[in-house]
Amino acid sequence: MSGAKRTPFAAASTLAPSAAKDPTAPLADVDTVFLDLDGCVWFGSQLAEGAMDLVRDLRSSGRRVGFLTNTSNHGTAHVAAKLQRLGIAAALDEVIMPVDSLAEHPRLRQRPSVWFFGPDEVRPHVAAVAAIAETPDEAELVVLGRDTRLTYADLADALSVLVRGGGLLAFNVDPRVPVEGGRMLPGTGAIAAALSYASGVQPEVVGKPSALFFETALRRFGATAERSVMVGDTLDSDIAGGASVGMRTVLVGEASPSMLESPPIPDHHVARLREVWALFGG
Ligand SMILES: [Mg+2]
Repeated sequence: MSGAKRTPFAAASTLAPSAAKDPTAPLADVDTVFLDLDGCVWFGSQLAEGAMDLVRDLRSSGRRVGFLTNTSNHGTAHVAAKLQRLGIAAALDEVIMPVDSLAEHPRLRQRPSVWFFGPDEVRPHVAAVAAIAETPDEAELVVLGRDTRLTYADLADALSVLVRGGGLLAFNVDPRVPVEGGRMLPGTGAIAAALSYASGVQPEVVGKPSALFFETALRRFGATAERSVMVGDTLDSDIAGGASVGMRTVLVGEASPSMLESPPIPDHHVARLREVWALFGG
């Protein structure tokens, strides 16, 4: 995958005019559906109830399904294989991750020397679009993923780039990663916050909620924002990001009324993923 130019999906809508049983349903005219993974399609190693049916129904209605994840500790092949293992077939090109939009970031245009701070699995993806420095002294920029084996020395190396005036590109700034049993793990944002606190350098995000990420997804699918919807469990990343490029949005999960009173306000809210299909008119 690394370095290969991807061919966009066909630009023409594949959605038949009569695809929805109820054409007045709020998302009946949507032809491209982007699903978040962590906390939406799956919780750790468990598929969310109804996820398989939802993807099957969306595809059989002629809609295209993309999986938009802020995962920064694995590559695309790992994520597609996990979907497959859990019962959802997914082509590599249907999975969009922060590393996919990294190449589009203005700071990457001159192919800078970067200090990559993240797991080995993601390194080849970064190497495809940037020059990875051998030592932090040579680097102009830190690219940050979620390395679950990070050490104090890793933080010190990255900090040395930042205090020399280097930039900080984070795959995401998610504070936590939800896993099975309601447990939470520290997210890439927690690592970015440590570096930011130490250096005073604010992270720039290449994954959700950056417009860069959602524009990359639309381009990959040859889709328009007007006929696309982002479905996810996080207001600050899925809903804010999707809305920022003009997509419609669906928040999945428990939400208190006060959460839905101030921006970002989703267009629709359902408690469970299996309720999403009704928004398309069945
Ligand atoms: Mg999520």
